[in-house]
Amino acid sequence: MANAIKPAGMHRVRARKIIELSRVILEKYGGDLTWIRDAPLEEARRALLELPGVGEKTADVILVNLGKPTFPVDTHITRISLRLGIARSRNYREIQRAWMNTLTPDPGRYLEVHLKLIQFGRDVCKARNPRCDVCGFKDVCNYYNNIKGRAGQ
Ligand code: SF4
Repeated sequence: MANAIKPAGMHRVRARKIIELSRVILEKYGGDLTWIRDAPLEEARRALLELPGVGEKTADVILVNLGKPTFPVDTHITRISLRLGIARSRNYREIQRAWMNTLTPDPGRYLEVHLKLIQFGRDVCKARNPRCDVCGFKDVCNYYNNIKGRAGQ
């Protein structure tokens, strides 16, 4: 098991977690989680959050990929949201609500924007040395305009 997931990094820890997760899914649900697809959103989320190692982001990634109306927030999206001023805190639900209130209410659109924001965070709005010079959000970005303001003082 550990060797199979070696390229993902931290393979020994991850292998242990996957085995534990599999054990719980087998014991609790007979190895079958397909019912989640048809369950109401909050019930499905609760069940996923009760599984070991499953946090809000992982649960929402699964749910939005099943076509449910939710928006997963990862570390890139948190950083971009704070820099742009879309959110004022790192609170998962606040950031999620901010994006869901902004976007067309459609799971396909949520997933698309989620993936694009992650790519944007990797390529442009990087944690260190964001590439503001090539970014199309400069005019509306709090982070950039604060830096510019400080540079002009
Ligand atoms: S202007 Fe800079 S900080 Fe703002 S969103 Fe773009 S890359 Fe990120």
